[in-house]
Amino acid sequence: MFPCKFDLHNHTVASGHAYSTIEEIAARAGKIGLELVGISDHGPSMPGGPHLYHFGNRLAVPKLIEGVEILFGVEANIISTCGQLDLPPSILGSLDFVAAGLHPATGYEGENKADNTKALICAMENPDLDFIVHPGNPRFPMDVEAVVQAAVRTGVALELNNSSLTICRRGSEGTCFELAKRMAQLGGKVILGSDSHASCNVGNLDAALDLAKRAGLRAEQILNTSRELLEQHLAARRRLKA
Ligand SMILES: [Zn+2]
Ligand SMILES: [Zn+2]
Repeated sequence: MFPCKFDLHNHTVASGHAYSTIEEIAARAGKIGLELVGISDHGPSMPGGPHLYHFGNRLAVPKLIEGVEILFGVEANIISTCGQLDLPPSILGSLDFVAAGLHPATGYEGENKADNTKALICAMENPDLDFIVHPGNPRFPMDVEAVVQAAVRTGVALELNNSSLTICRRGSEGTCFELAKRMAQLGGKVILGSDSHASCNVGNLDAALDLAKRAGLRAEQILNTSRELLEQHLAARRRLKA
């Protein structure tokens, strides 16, 4: 049994191409029995994405909505091969969690596998970063072995993105499986994310969970299986920042 207790990867209307509010996401999370839900709107470099003020105003959002705890984070954009993120450290440090990944049309100019691998590894060196999202995206090919080694060394969790297996980023599954298998062997941490852009998809983690199990990942490597695992992960990252 690998029951998932939370889903941190959810987008609100603030992302510019998503369709639900924080209240709708919280209500959906409560309805399907999640105790915790994350809000992870795109960083400001995403076309149509939120202004930095969106993140600066996060205290306007209650910590509990509809009985569901809210973690307010970001899905930042990695915008250079040096792993630079599109929010300043002062804001990154104020958020409950920081996820980041490579996205088209956000100013990232890496051109090949070597560039993408370097960008991901450099981003993982950033102590503000907690998770790398959808690293299996075929649009940004990377060296699986090097990325997994860096994730294990830095303690960053790699995401298995449910939408990459069901809705978008077609062709992700082979790399995701390879990556998950290697993480299972080396004892790294993964996080499952729905990447919901509409509240009906909040907590949809089945495809990612199935892939994780097939790859041999153990429950203690999958952060979603335990609130304590998540808290330990975030606390370890915060210590790095201190
Ligand atoms: Zn999006
Ligand atoms: Zn993304």
